[in-house]
Amino acid sequence: MRIAEIRCVPLEWQIPKKLQKWPSDYGIKTETHAIIVEVKTDEGITGYGEVHPGYGYTRGAAHVAKAIVEKELAPQILGEDPTRPEVIWEKLYNGPRYDLATTYGHSCPGMGRRGVTICAMSGIDMALWDVFAKSLGVPIYKLLGGEYRRKIPAYASGGHAPAEHAGEEAAGYVSKGFRAVKMRVGGMDAPRVVEGAIDRIAATREGIGPDVGLMLDAHGSLNVSQATQLVHAAEEYDITWFEEPVPSDNWSGMAEVRDVTDVPIATGENDFTHFDFRDMIERGAADILQPDLAVVGGFTAARRVAVLTQAANLQCIPHVWGSAILFAASLQWAAALPNCPVFEFRQGSCPLFTELLGEPFTVDEDGCVAIPDGPGLGVELDLAEAEKRFPLSDG
Ligand SMILES: [Mg+2]
Repeated sequence: MRIAEIRCVPLEWQIPKKLQKWPSDYGIKTETHAIIVEVKTDEGITGYGEVHPGYGYTRGAAHVAKAIVEKELAPQILGEDPTRPEVIWEKLYNGPRYDLATTYGHSCPGMGRRGVTICAMSGIDMALWDVFAKSLGVPIYKLLGGEYRRKIPAYASGGHAPAEHAGEEAAGYVSKGFRAVKMRVGGMDAPRVVEGAIDRIAATREGIGPDVGLMLDAHGSLNVSQATQLVHAAEEYDITWFEEPVPSDNWSGMAEVRDVTDVPIATGENDFTHFDFRDMIERGAADILQPDLAVVGGFTAARRVAVLTQAANLQCIPHVWGSAILFAASLQWAAALPNCPVFEFRQGSCPLFTELLGEPFTVDEDGCVAIPDGPGLGVELDLAEAEKRFPLSDG
């Protein structure tokens, strides 16, 4: 079997005015993108992956990702055997120095070793694992070593409401079945980053009661001093984890915050490849590592990160904020992770998440989401239909 064609299809959803409420530190979003990679083989198998190059305004990144996938990466691997995703990953990462890297046994990447190029590689890698698993008629989690679980507890990822609506928003998630809720704090509470966050945390805890898990996510918007003040003030609200207290440019600062609190620190959604995660672990930056499959380098890099987290006795909990394709891929990975106790389930209306595959993902009465057990990602995508419905502006 050979790779016959690789396409990158950015999809765009213009967010209706009435849904543009509760700004985060990224402001009010007016449009959102899902950048899908499609790999076709000469044997008629098609695989899908996703590229996630950023938050906020991403129209330019969507165009860039398409160009990198189709004009730079695809020409290097057309005609390759798609059942060798690890080899193809090294080929793309090392580029023209692949032979040097594999001869001497060390990486030789160029400028594309971080950023949108790795995001683009992530989408291709995911699609290759989808093809590989489909060619064998098994879900991807079988190729990753097998499943620890067939369903996984999910947490509702939202919490953008102001203090007067925070309790009601979070209680709504609990009424849907979730047993844990994550809320955004910090930058979005400026200029009262600590006091404003605590007002909303208190309202949220009151809304969900004492038995539901509560995570905080600062999106890396604070400095060490602010994050330390906030986590100390938040400790009485029984916090499950504090995510990205400071930016990923400051892993040492993150370790400082970790040192002064018993609240576990989580991070990783903005970081690339097993090399970043190795350094993060060495600095003692976090208790929970959160690679995003559409950022870190796909399944190939993610499973290397997973081994590092296991060796360091840390949890590995995927960051999942994209379309239904990324959600499905992340479920496949989470099924095969021994150290992943909970799964991120994005909230808010987004048809690229809820309508891309027909049937939306839901939680059951135990607050768990089922892991698809069909071949590959375990889901069916009609990409032609999605392209018609969610065309990219200026595409
Ligand atoms: Mg986050």
